[in-house]
Amino acid sequence: MHEMGICDGILTASLEAAARENASRINSINVTIGVLTEVQEDALQFAFSVLTKDSIAEGSTLNVTMVPARSVCGECSAEFVHGRFDAKCAECGSYVCTLVAGRELQIDSIDID
Ligand SMILES: [Zn+2]
Repeated sequence: MHEMGICDGILTASLEAAARENASRINSINVTIGVLTEVQEDALQFAFSVLTKDSIAEGSTLNVTMVPARSVCGECSAEFVHGRFDAKCAECGSYVCTLVAGRELQIDSIDID
């Protein structure tokens, strides 16, 4: 499962940050994930519950903000939200578009004690 590896990366970075702060536990982790990463939130939550077992993040909350894919049209400069496989300008129908959002995979903040 794709999400297991991604969650492992999130958790490893979070545990390292917590260790640097001498935290005794992690309460919550806030992440932003673009839809183009193809991460399914429920699968990520499942991976999180498995991977946090026996760590200082056990029982913590993973808050996921999903970001839709967004592109800017190279023809008319319109900015538009689109699905995973249909980056086509909503204004003029052009396919000459530059992706500006949707590939995010980042930790925004970590709440620790
Ligand atoms: Zn356009």
